[in-house]
Amino acid sequence: MKNYILFGPPGSGKGTQSDLMIEKFKLIHLATGNMLRAEIQQKSTLGMEAQAIINRGELVPDMIVNAMIEEKIKSNQQAAGFLFDGYPRTIIQAESLDNLLMKFHSTIQLVFSLVVPEEELVKRLLNRGLTSGRTDDNENIIKARINEYKEKTAAVGQYYQRKNKLIELDGTQTIEEVFSNILKNT
Ligand code: AMP
Repeated sequence: MKNYILFGPPGSGKGTQSDLMIEKFKLIHLATGNMLRAEIQQKSTLGMEAQAIINRGELVPDMIVNAMIEEKIKSNQQAAGFLFDGYPRTIIQAESLDNLLMKFHSTIQLVFSLVVPEEELVKRLLNRGLTSGRTDDNENIIKARINEYKEKTAAVGQYYQRKNKLIELDGTQTIEEVFSNILKNT
């Protein structure tokens, strides 16, 4: 099993690169944001709880996203590998993922960190908001999401750097250039 993480702040291009990677490597795409939005659409209890948190630009509790990931990994044990997108977002989540993968005698191969300056992130997210239909792609929530990233998620990059698994990429390059840089490291 080959498992990768696409890491970076909101608007850094994780979703776009994920689509290219899952196609190329036949990985299972585990994007916690997408899973939460699916729960919201189904109007499940979890979805209703998550919606309020997402609309404040805050992070959903670790226990909830960890359980979602565990369930997906358990039910896809024959997978060629997993691509984590938007997960882990806290150190607790990163530790939980390590422990979980260890149970399946697997590990994280590499973490691709997409580096994009803050003004560019805001510009991209506002632009995406014109068509995404996402309630959290608006100016106030974008600011809160970027702050959550700085306060809680940036440390996850350092966590993987200490394990020599972090590859930093210039996320301002074209989609094709970023993907080609990913491929050079796989
Ligand atoms: P995303 O689609 O990855 O931008 O996620 C949208 C929102 O879902 C985030 O702003 C969080 O509120 C929530 N979310 C997604 N993934 C996670 C996660 N791993 N941990 C906590 N909250 C998450």
